Amino acid sequence: MDKVDLRSFTLEKLKSELENMGEKPFRAKQIYGWLHQKQVRDFDDMTNISKDLREKLKEKYIIKNLKIVEKLVSKEDNTSKYLFDIGNNTVIESVLMKYSYGNAVCISSQAGCRMGCTFCASTIGGLERNLMPGEMAEQIYEIQRDIGERVSNVVIMGSGEPLDNYENVLDFLEIIHSKEGCNLSHRHITLSTCGVVDKIYDLAKEDLQITLAISLHAPNNEIRKNTMPIAKKYDYDSLLRAAKYYADVTKRRVTFEYALIKGVNDGEENAAELASRLRGIMCHVNLIPVNDVRENNYIRSTEENIKKFAQTLKSMGIETTVRRKLGSDINAACGQLRKSYKDRNIKEE
Ligand code: SAH
Repeated sequence: MDKVDLRSFTLEKLKSELENMGEKPFRAKQIYGWLHQKQVRDFDDMTNISKDLREKLKEKYIIKNLKIVEKLVSKEDNTSKYLFDIGNNTVIESVLMKYSYGNAVCISSQAGCRMGCTFCASTIGGLERNLMPGEMAEQIYEIQRDIGERVSNVVIMGSGEPLDNYENVLDFLEIIHSKEGCNLSHRHITLSTCGVVDKIYDLAKEDLQITLAISLHAPNNEIRKNTMPIAKKYDYDSLLRAAKYYADVTKRRVTFEYALIKGVNDGEENAAELASRLRGIMCHVNLIPVNDVRENNYIRSTEENIKKFAQTLKSMGIETTVRRKLGSDINAACGQLRKSYKDRNIKEE
C-alpha cells in the first residue's frame, strides 16, 4: 500500500493518527509544527522526536516534497513561474508575484481541470488528479525555501477548480491558517471558482474570512454558456444568488473576474448588462485582458475597449479594477507552462 503523506493531515487528523499508534497527542502538535512552521523536508530533521518514533513514522508515512522542474523569471515584472514535479510524471505550476506589500503565491488545486472553459489552457488535457492538502501547502513552502522569504498572500487560482476538490482544499486552508501551522490570515487568502454553486453555499457556511473570487466572464447565461460549460449546470441567476449569500454570510466582498475577449463579451452593452445584474451584491469586478492561449482563437480586447468597459461599470456604481498583465513573457496564464512542458516532452519522446 502507498504510504500516506504526513503533510496532508490537519492537526486534528494528525492527533488521531498518532493516537492510533499509541502516541500522546502533544506529539502531534510537535510534528505538525515541524511540518508546517519549520517546513522540514525529512523525518530526521525533527530533532525533538525520538529516533524510535521517527522510524515508526517512516514505516507508515512519507513527507512529500515537491521538486522544482523549471523556474521562469519574468524580465518584465516581479513574477516567477514554477513548474513542480509531484510524482509519476505529473507536473503542476505555481506563480510567485512580488508586491510592495509582500509575496503572493498563486497555487494549483488540481493537476489539470475538468471544467472545460474554452479560453483556459489548464483544461485542455482534462483532469489528471486532485491535489492533496500537503501538495497545495508544499507549493508555498518550496517557493519560500527557494526565495528565502515568507509568503504573505495565497490565491487558489492556478490550475484546477478548487471547489471540485472541496475536502482537500478545506483541509489545506485549515493547515495554512492554523496558528500551530503556517499561521496565514484568512484575509490574505483568495479562492477562485468557476461557479460550483452548491459548494459556494457549503463554503459560505464554513464562515471563513477568505475572499471568494468568481470567474464570471459574461453578463448573462447565453454568453457564459458559450465559454464556460459549468453555466449549463448552474444558471447565471443561481450563481449570483450564491455569491450574494456568500457576501451576506461572511461580510466579505466577492470579486467577480471578467476576462475581456474581443467580440465575445467586451461590448458596452455587455458592461451595462453586467452592472445591472450585479447591483445589490457587495462586490468588485476585476477585469482581465484575456491571455492568448495557442489552442484557441480568442483575441484580447483593445486597450480602448477595456477602458470603456471599466468606465461603464464604474458609472453604474460597480467598483472595478483592471488587472495588470503579469508575466506574459513566461507563460504565466493558467496552465500554459504545464501545457507547454507536456507538449515539449511528448515531442521528445
Ligand atoms: N477554476 C478556478 C480557478 C482557476 S482559473 C476558476 O475558474 O476561477 C483562474 C482564473 O484564470 C479564472 O478566472 C480563469 O477564468 C482565468 N483564466 C483562465 N484562462 C485564462 C486566459 N487565457 N486569460 C485570462 N484569464 C484566464
